[in-house]
Amino acid sequence: MVRYKIVFEKKDCIGCGACTSQCPENWELIEGEDGFKAKPKKSEINDDEYSSNQEAADICPVDCIKIEKVKARKKIVEDFDQDLYEEA
Ligand code: SF4
Repeated sequence: MVRYKIVFEKKDCIGCGACTSQCPENWELIEGEDGFKAKPKKSEINDDEYSSNQEAADICPVDCIKIEKVKARKKIVEDFDQDLYEEA
């Protein structure tokens, strides 16, 4: 299963709430000293969660949400497991 990392530039967030409307499963607004800012509940998501988080990124008016595929870690584990099977 492919995993994705959420890259969020909090300093650019204007707290409009569009992402929380689009993807309330993973985005919430938190009030801080500098007003409301969005916050992802999870910084890493799976295939099932990708679409709604990508829609949140697409709808963000200041483009401060990016969704990136996580590659290396899973591949290393798969290669390691494959070596074990081949030696058994
Ligand atoms: S849509 Fe973008 S600017 Fe609006 S609250 Fe979410 S992250 Fe912040």
